[in-house]
Amino acid sequence: MGEKNVDKVVRISQSPEQIRNIAICAHIDHGKTTLSDNLLAGAGMMSEALAGNARQLDFHDDEQERGITIDSASVSMAHELKGKEYLINLMDTPGHVDFGGDVTRAMRAVDGAVVLVDAVEGMMPQTETVLKQALRERVKPILFINKCDRLIKELQYTPQQMQETFVKIITNVNRFIDGIAPEEFKDKWNVNVADGSVCFGSGFHNWALSIPYMQENNITFGDIADAYNNGEHKVLGKKCPLHVVLLNSVIEHLPSPTKAQSYRIARLWTGDLESAEGKSLLACDPKGPLFFVAVKIVIDPNAGEVAAGRIFSGTMKRGDSVHLIRAKTSARVQQVSIYNGAKRELVDSIPCGNIVGVVGLKGVFPGETVTVKADTEPFVEIRHIFDPVVTKSIEATKPGDLPKLIEVMRQVGKEDPTIVIKMNEETGEFLMSGMGELHLEVIENRIEKEKGVKVKTSPPIVVYREAVNKKTPQEVEGKSPNKHNKFYITVEPVSEAVRAAIGKKEIQEGRIKKKDTRLVPTLTALGFSNDDAKRVRAVYEGNLFVDNTRGIVHLEEIMELVFDTFEDVMLNGGIAREPCVNVKVTLHDVKLHEDAIHRGPAQIYPAMREGIRDAMKLSAPSLFEPVQLLQFEAPTDYMGEISKLISNKRGQLLDMVQEGDHVTVKGRLPVAEMFGLTDNLRSATGGRGSFFVLDQSFEKLPSELQPKVVKQIRTRKGLSLEE
Ligand code: GDP
Repeated sequence: MGEKNVDKVVRISQSPEQIRNIAICAHIDHGKTTLSDNLLAGAGMMSEALAGNARQLDFHDDEQERGITIDSASVSMAHELKGKEYLINLMDTPGHVDFGGDVTRAMRAVDGAVVLVDAVEGMMPQTETVLKQALRERVKPILFINKCDRLIKELQYTPQQMQETFVKIITNVNRFIDGIAPEEFKDKWNVNVADGSVCFGSGFHNWALSIPYMQENNITFGDIADAYNNGEHKVLGKKCPLHVVLLNSVIEHLPSPTKAQSYRIARLWTGDLESAEGKSLLACDPKGPLFFVAVKIVIDPNAGEVAAGRIFSGTMKRGDSVHLIRAKTSARVQQVSIYNGAKRELVDSIPCGNIVGVVGLKGVFPGETVTVKADTEPFVEIRHIFDPVVTKSIEATKPGDLPKLIEVMRQVGKEDPTIVIKMNEETGEFLMSGMGELHLEVIENRIEKEKGVKVKTSPPIVVYREAVNKKTPQEVEGKSPNKHNKFYITVEPVSEAVRAAIGKKEIQEGRIKKKDTRLVPTLTALGFSNDDAKRVRAVYEGNLFVDNTRGIVHLEEIMELVFDTFEDVMLNGGIAREPCVNVKVTLHDVKLHEDAIHRGPAQIYPAMREGIRDAMKLSAPSLFEPVQLLQFEAPTDYMGEISKLISNKRGQLLDMVQEGDHVTVKGRLPVAEMFGLTDNLRSATGGRGSFFVLDQSFEKLPSELQPKVVKQIRTRKGLSLEE
């Protein structure tokens, strides 16, 4: 017996140069699960007979039923190239855009990505969305063109036609990379068929090729066609095994953690790169201070919460005392584990560069930075592609199940942080918000099937936003109940440039201390004067708070109360208690009672709240609704049906491209009209049409609908119909 797999994995994990952390960018159904299983089987991490059936990456039952992979979990494989052993950690990525947040988090943990494209369908919207997230996190791509068996068997392409198909796909992928990749990597990160950063093959039939592999092993395109035509395609799995060709390419073209961290850290961490922490992060130094970033929480029936994530610096040991930077708490590491195939194996310690599972980090959430020192700068927040815009209320069918439901909802919120869960304190029901109808359906299904709680849910409702359309004509006074404290406030829309910068997270959310100048360079670049930039004191959910006062004694003492109220009003606006967006609140002057006892929370909260809400009333407030940009795909025959569907749903048809007998339609639809779209499309196209979300924004709800929607929301929330 040779060395056991687990021992091999642990041994290689000690050498960062020999590690590759990767993820797959794919459109749903392009073959990610089949490919992942084949890689695992090929690398000997799972029995070969099971590959293709076992679906090691799909842990949840509902994923198997639906055939979509929703959660990211990591698997690892050992692979040898030119006499050297490597450990490849593959983080699973979801292919459905409804679950965009998961993609970004998976990308944080990896340095390289395999862009997986179906040879017949080419690059599709979700491939683009996932690749975009990868490039933004400075994750380097290679390309795998899958399902090549279909080119030969179904389309009966000649080798010449096959090559033309590849060239078309490669050109598209590179054009996309050029558009998004960081400036310094544009050329370097283009994929290239000659150097082997492009592979093609069949996940189904277990073979792959690259030009270098063909040259070294004397294989031609004709050989592939012949194998299929002679019914001998199984030979290909031996002659050019998928895992060998693709993992070779991963090792040669995707960076080790050491190499990747040298250019990724400046993007992912805003601390001082010259400090001891900065240097250790840049060098991926196992002797440096610990930095672990959690990217996913999995609930293990035995161990409880396992935080899966990436160690960027230092070594994590069982028993270590650590700090959760954003949660501002401490914890003790109870278990450190490494992935051996899909299995979690306990180890005593593990150095940086690895993807690990950690138990004991109480209060951890995906995106959290875990370190040894409490005052360490955390990694930048992980971006979600889209905000949750659809909400359902959920309650247990049997009242006796309530305690269990509370526990399950807590777990669900942990496992998928793009789901936002709130408890309605008055009714005891939960409100669950997600990115779309399907997203919530999947979660609901999981609560019932996996967690065993029968639930009832309300029909989905849309979450609107409140915004203002002009500046308050004059300063508005907010007075405290004791009339001794007064705040003078105006509000106005945030400028387009600032809005974009917040959207791209160039301006980070949070409260800003008086001497903290970290936002100043970004704001001055956006046209703020130096003085104005210093006056921006809080950024919250896309809204700004500006302190324009001068020399007010005691103001700093109550500033936290002012921020609290600003944030509260931004979450619960004046029109219908919906969240506000793009609102800039400016505080011009303040009068405070001299005696601290008369300027406590009971005075300051109502004064500020009244001031901001009254100012908003005078600034042409209106509801904004979420609108999604959708791409529809269907046979040309259904072109008319699709455009009818779009216009029936208050949508706007933007583009229609016909290619052969297939049509691609782009349209913008209000989310409020999208409920039931999957079913409507199915009946309109005899089940042959599909759609994907490309983008999401908030737009002003048409004026004629405003009073009706405001009334609906206020009635639902039990608010009086008049303010
Ligand atoms: P995922 O949604 O990207 O995880 O895709 P799956 O791995 O579940 O595959 C989707 C469908 O495509 C399944 O029916 C697979 O059997 C099929 N499939 C996957 N790889 C190949 C391939 O290389 N050739 C062909 N012909 N079918 C494939």
